[in-house]
Amino acid sequence: MSDAPRPARAGRFGRWSDWVVAAVVLIAIILLRRWLHHAQLESTPVIVPADVVARDVVAPPAATIARRMLKDVEDIVTPPKRPRLAVLTFDDGPFPVTTPLLVAELHALNVPAVFFIIGRDAQEQPALTLRAHAAGIELGNHTQTHPEMKTLSQPQQAMEITEGATTIRRLTGIRPTYFRPPHGAYDAATIDAARAAGDTVALWDVDPGDWRVLTADRIVDNVLAHGRSPAVLLLHNGKFATLEALPRIVKAYRAAGFEFVTLSQLQARLSLPEINDPVRVALQ
Ligand SMILES: [Zn+2]
Repeated sequence: MSDAPRPARAGRFGRWSDWVVAAVVLIAIILLRRWLHHAQLESTPVIVPADVVARDVVAPPAATIARRMLKDVEDIVTPPKRPRLAVLTFDDGPFPVTTPLLVAELHALNVPAVFFIIGRDAQEQPALTLRAHAAGIELGNHTQTHPEMKTLSQPQQAMEITEGATTIRRLTGIRPTYFRPPHGAYDAATIDAARAAGDTVALWDVDPGDWRVLTADRIVDNVLAHGRSPAVLLLHNGKFATLEALPRIVKAYRAAGFEFVTLSQLQARLSLPEINDPVRVALQ
């Protein structure tokens, strides 16, 4: 059996090639799952179009996700161009101390913004609500009492949205155009209720997580790591770290050639398919 080692060498080679194939398949599966997850996230619109069925917004169907994946390929082949527009949105409030500081800071930086205010808080701070409105800040509806919408019945959700909008209209004379659900938590009933009330559901595409206890440095880092064009940033009223981070966020976006606008101005400048298909942008 002088040629006995030969099959052994071939066997060893066979095992190595099996490992390589297994590794390649594993990497392919991991990448595919990441791509799928990314496509699922990107299938959630920044501004919810009126003609999309509410339950398809909450859980995008397979066909939407597949279209998004095809679009990803298309975007690599011919990268889409978008004017560099950014919207600073601030949820919650108005609050007695932080809101005047935020309004003053936005004025000093000369940037427009959108405040998604809570009806109950606006009723407690009517002068602040008016001051924000007079400063040119676009006021959006963030419900009357900031509940977890998914725990409410559809009539209760409808009442929260209608009352929130009515409070803003009563205080400022202007009916809000946009609605954002508290904690970004919503179901199909939320979207239907907002539509019935005449509100457009507005979400975001950049969330630096400032609703948690974060330092200003961390908030800036999180914003800079997720440059998008157009960018709808989710920030919060009532956070000192956010106030501290704001000048650096504005500076970085302006250095990258961005112009700040309100949500209404964004919709006047771009179509919904463009707004809902943001392009990655390097901010640092
Ligand atoms: Zn909120």
